[in-house]
Amino acid sequence: MADVSKKVTGDNTDAATEPRVISFVSSTTTASTSDTHAKPAPRKRRKPKINPNLKCALCESGVKHVTYKDIYQLKKFTSAGGNIIESRRSGTCAKHQRQLARAIKRARQVALMPYVSSNE
Ligand SMILES: [Zn+2]
Repeated sequence: MADVSKKVTGDNTDAATEPRVISFVSSTTTASTSDTHAKPAPRKRRKPKINPNLKCALCESGVKHVTYKDIYQLKKFTSAGGNIIESRRSGTCAKHQRQLARAIKRARQVALMPYVSSNE
């Protein structure tokens, strides 16, 4: 496609080769118009790889209750944007994930943690 357009622009000055080029261009232009009507192929989203052997870090460290005051602990379970990381990615068990989500939301409300952060 790129070669054809280059040929067209180059051969416009040459009168001798012009008719051959035009027939070639007309066939390609019909093809290009059909291309514009066609939908562009959707981008495939990469699924993040999930390690099935992840274990709950809080269970292993023996945490019984997650408190909203321990920001350094809570920050490990939030993304750079400030979102809570889902349990299948972080590997936390359901019980601790519930406690974490509640604690993070509480910490946000008392302005210990950000709802959204652009830096970091
Ligand atoms: Zn756990």
